Amino acid sequence: MKNSKIHKFAKDGGYFIIDPPSGSAHISDKLAFDMLGELEPPLPENTPERVYGIFGGFSVSEIDECYGELYGLYKGGALFSGDGDCRRYAEAVSAAPLKALCLHVSHDCNLRCGYCFAGTGGYGGERTLMSPETAAESIDFLVRNSGERTLLEADFFGGEPLMAWETVTAAVDYARSREEEWGKRFKFTITTNGLLLDDEKIDYINREMCNCVLSLDGREETNDRIRKTLSGGGSYGAVTPKFQKLVKNRNKPGFTDYYVRGTFTAYNLDFSEDATEMARLGFRNISIEPVTAPDDRPYAIKREHIPRVFEEYDRLYSIIKNGERDINFFHFNVDLKGGPCVIRRLRGCGCGGEYAAVTPEGELYPCHRFIGAKEWRSGNVSRNGLSREKRDYFAKTHIYSKTGCADCWARFYCSGGCNALSYERYGDARATDGESVECRLMKKRLECAIALNAV
Ligand code: SF4
Ligand code: SF4
Ligand code: SF4
Repeated sequence: MKNSKIHKFAKDGGYFIIDPPSGSAHISDKLAFDMLGELEPPLPENTPERVYGIFGGFSVSEIDECYGELYGLYKGGALFSGDGDCRRYAEAVSAAPLKALCLHVSHDCNLRCGYCFAGTGGYGGERTLMSPETAAESIDFLVRNSGERTLLEADFFGGEPLMAWETVTAAVDYARSREEEWGKRFKFTITTNGLLLDDEKIDYINREMCNCVLSLDGREETNDRIRKTLSGGGSYGAVTPKFQKLVKNRNKPGFTDYYVRGTFTAYNLDFSEDATEMARLGFRNISIEPVTAPDDRPYAIKREHIPRVFEEYDRLYSIIKNGERDINFFHFNVDLKGGPCVIRRLRGCGCGGEYAAVTPEGELYPCHRFIGAKEWRSGNVSRNGLSREKRDYFAKTHIYSKTGCADCWARFYCSGGCNALSYERYGDARATDGESVECRLMKKRLECAIALNAV
C-alpha cells in the first residue's frame, strides 16, 4: 500500500476502500481497487498517463471512467481526505466535565477465574465492599463534577457487584431521589458473573439498569475450564439459566440493552463455536474479547495464534453475514455514517477525563483497569477529587500523542486503543505498537465490521 492515508482490503469476493479521516467506506470493483494502489494525492483531474500503461488489459474508456469515479470521490472529500485540523484540535482540547463513574462496589468475588485481571476480585489488596455512604458520596461527586451535562452514567462493577447488592440499590435509590433537584438523569449499568442472581435482583436490574453485561465464556467446557467457583467447580450450570431468564424478561422500553460477554483464550481459539453456543442459548447481543495477559501465561493469546484467530473472526463474519445465526457481535459494530463525535474518535474511552473509577474506599482512578496501580490514584470522592495533573494527562492522550497511532489506518475507529493496557504492557499509557497482538486483532475486527456494514 503506497499511501497510509487510505486503507484497502479484499474480503469475501468484495473490494473495500476506507478513507479513515472522513469515515468513508467504499465498495469498489477490482480495477478501482488496484488503480488506487497506484495513486498518490494530490490527484490530477485527468487520468495520469502512466495509469494507461499499468492497466493495459482495459480500454481507455474503461480506465477513464474508473479514474473519473475515484477523482469524484477525491474531490468530494471521501478519498485521501487527510487529517485536516484534527491534530491541532486534539492538542487544544482540555479535560471535559465528568460524565461517568465506574463504582467498584465490591472488591471481592465469588468466582476464581483463571484469567482475572482484577486478582479474582481483590485487585491485589484487601477484599472489601463499598458502603452505601461511599456510594452516595460518589454520586454526589459525579454530579458536582459534571458541569452542564444532564445525562450521567454509573456502572456497578467489581469484583462481583451483586455481593454488595445493598450498596447497589442504595446508590440507585439515592440518585433517583435527587435527579429532579439536580436537573440530571442517571443511566445505570451492571456487570455481573450472575452467581447471586435471583428473581428479585433480575426484576430490579431489568427495571433500573439501562444496560447490563453478563459474563459467560460460551460453551460449558470453555467456560468451566477457567471460570471456576470457590470450590473449584464450573460456574456454567449455575449462571446460564439465570442469564436466560434475565434476558427473556428484559423488555422495559429503554432498558433492553445487554451483552453476554465472554473472553477467549489460547484454550478456545475456535471461539466462533462459543458465539454460536451463546446464540443457541437465546442470547443475541454477544461480545467475546481476547484475553489480555502476559505471554508467559498458558492461556495468553500470542503472536503465533494470530492467523488462527483471524480465521475465527472470518468464520464469525460468515455466520453473521449468511444469517446462519442472529448475532449482534459487539466488535463487528461500526458506525460508518455518523460515528462517534470527533473527540471520541481522537481520544477513545475517555478514561481519566470524562470517565473515572472509584474503589470501595472512595479512591479515584482513571478507570477500572488502572486500579491497583497506586501511581495512578487520582484523589478521593470525599476529599480532594480528581487530580488536575492526571486529568490533563489523559486529555492530551490521543491518537497523535500515542506512539504508533498517528499513521495507523485504524486510528479514527480504534482511537488509540486501551491506555491501561499500554501501561501494563509498556509501562507507558501512551505507548502502542501497531504490530502487537491487540492492534492486529483490532484491525482484523475492523475489517470484518466494515465489510459487514458497508453497503
Ligand atoms: S467473575 Fe470477574 S472479577 Fe470475579 S474472578 Fe471472574 S473475572 Fe475476576
Ligand atoms: S492502538 Fe493500534 S490499532 Fe489502534 S490506532 Fe493505535 S496503532 Fe492503530
Ligand atoms: S483505558 Fe482501557 S480499560 Fe480503561 S476505560 Fe479505556 S479502554 Fe477501558
